[in-house]
Amino acid sequence: MLVVAKFGGSSLSCATQFEKVKNILLSDPKRKIVVCSALGKRDKEDTKITDLLYILHAHLKYSVPYQDIWDMIYNRFIGVQKDLNISYDIKSDLDSLKNELNKNISQDYLVSRGEYLTSKLMAAYIGYEFVDAKDLLRFNYDGKLDEQLTEKNVKLAFSKGGKIVVPGFYGAYPNNSVKLLSRGGSDVTGSILAKCLQATVYENWTDVSGILAADPRIIKNPRAIKEITYAELRELSYMGASVLHEETVFPVQQLNIPINLRNTNEPENEGTMIRNECTDTSNVVTGLARKKDFLSFNISKDHMSNEVGFMRKALSIFEKYNVSIEHVPSGIDSFSVVTSGSSVDKYKYEIVTDLKRELDCEVTIEADLALVAIVGRNMAKRSGICATIFQALGQEKINVKLLAQGPSELNIIIGVSANDYEKTLQALYESLVR
Ligand code: ASP
Repeated sequence: MLVVAKFGGSSLSCATQFEKVKNILLSDPKRKIVVCSALGKRDKEDTKITDLLYILHAHLKYSVPYQDIWDMIYNRFIGVQKDLNISYDIKSDLDSLKNELNKNISQDYLVSRGEYLTSKLMAAYIGYEFVDAKDLLRFNYDGKLDEQLTEKNVKLAFSKGGKIVVPGFYGAYPNNSVKLLSRGGSDVTGSILAKCLQATVYENWTDVSGILAADPRIIKNPRAIKEITYAELRELSYMGASVLHEETVFPVQQLNIPINLRNTNEPENEGTMIRNECTDTSNVVTGLARKKDFLSFNISKDHMSNEVGFMRKALSIFEKYNVSIEHVPSGIDSFSVVTSGSSVDKYKYEIVTDLKRELDCEVTIEADLALVAIVGRNMAKRSGICATIFQALGQEKINVKLLAQGPSELNIIIGVSANDYEKTLQALYESLVR
């Protein structure tokens, strides 16, 4: 039984948070692999160490005086070390880093020092062995993870160390230079380690008690989701729910290793379990998500239904402009092509011109469309859900502009005017989730 526990920046923002992490680790000896982000924000106004390091890099690159930024970084690390009386001599590591600062220092290397130093502090504090991510996660020059080599390295490090702390967010190229992952990438590091060691569970510790069934900025006290499938999570994330780095799921999903989202500030809460299959059938709808800024190209032509290949030709025009299509709701002699506003911003008028010229059709653009996704594995083969949706929206006098359901019946997408989307979410939450 082996648990990989990853702690995000807010779980590592100061000495008090370090203490909480230690208690969490001590409370379960299966938590043998720890992945750390860099020191995060202590409060809303604070700045993450990672952001300070990016700013420091910009100062160096453009030869702007950087002492103030450096002092902020230095004092944060020294502060944690002193407050907890950690025996690791972080001062000498910080001094050597200071000596390395110059105009040409690699951004990836400099920024990765946030995770590196935080993990060294944590390892010394909890008495685990520190293992540098650079010696574990190996990437090819094309940026792809060398899975075999990485797995070999991780297994070896674990067999030697037993209990280890690994910095998240980076690895190395074949020439040993540091390669940073994209922002939030420590989630992915944890997932890769969990896969390599075939962990029983991958715990991801943050500052919320799991995934909420709707955005708390719009819905007051939404319920927390206890269990969710990888597929449901993908639907919710795609439609704007920000939970984990989007690449987190893939490594662990292959081996069906569950991800458990937990709250460092409320460790007794079991959080959300993400797995391939869930048995809980108590809720029909798992969660709601929404995204604004969609655009609909409404295309019509008399007797379109008799013209074989019409839709293919229309869609190939979108392909020509490299625009990804979200939905294609259709009538008999008309259909709409729904895309994200940002993806067609530059070319929308060219697309309209091409459609009209090549297909001799009418085209209008409808902007400011918002999509709301109703996601739930328990919706499949269940009757009456659409009736509830339409009744709830009808009562609020909300006009439905688009309706789509995928063949797996895992989600229902409702398109409404952007002005109506908050009201839509509230009405759907009250009728389907609460
Ligand atoms: N510290 C990095 C960031 O802020 C990576 C991470 O936290 O996952 O994006």
